Amino acid sequence: MVDRGLLIVLSGPSGVGKGTVRKAIFEQEENDLEYSISMTTRKERIGEIDGSDYFFRTKEQFEDLIKKDGLLEYAEYVGNYYGTPLEYVNRTLDSGKDVFLEIEVQGALQVREKMPEGIFIFLTPPGLKELKSRIVSRGTDESSVIESRMERAIEEINLMQHYDYAVENDKVENAVAKIKDIVECEHLKVSRV
Ligand code: 5GP
Repeated sequence: MVDRGLLIVLSGPSGVGKGTVRKAIFEQEENDLEYSISMTTRKERIGEIDGSDYFFRTKEQFEDLIKKDGLLEYAEYVGNYYGTPLEYVNRTLDSGKDVFLEIEVQGALQVREKMPEGIFIFLTPPGLKELKSRIVSRGTDESSVIESRMERAIEEINLMQHYDYAVENDKVENAVAKIKDIVECEHLKVSRV
């Protein structure tokens, strides 16, 4: 029987650069992580692909999956649902591969309850001003959405103590290197070998 893979959860406030860091990790060739594609009811942004960036679904389809217990976690975020399909995560972990989730904080706390053996990494911004300028410069959100993302970010930063690691996203390559080091160290833990 193969050992179950590790569940790696990358979380942190919106705009901190979780998506950019995650993409940089998966662009590297030498990486043994499997990315869990989330499901969402938000509209596709230009350039996004269904089944690759997200599974874009209707509210009805999403709520149907909630009823069927098909999600490991889900959260309503700025008016839309986001969630992690459960079946893929379990199947992949059972095959011995590590699964990587990139999700917001409420969802990460639900995963912490259900799979406490996971590795929980909180990506922190160098500062709140910097965070706002990142959200604004992304240019994809209206000002009311920017304000709600900022409010949510401040609440989320206060929940950092529930995580195993804090990684500052000062530069993407630094954050990527630290996350890879964390995963490597977790595999070397005496309790796992
Ligand atoms: P965006 O709309 O910018 O793609 O994502 C908004 C937020 O939802 C980000 O913080 C992102 O990490 C988070 N998110 C993406 N997928 C999931 C998911 O499956 N579950 C939860 N709880 N949050 C998610």
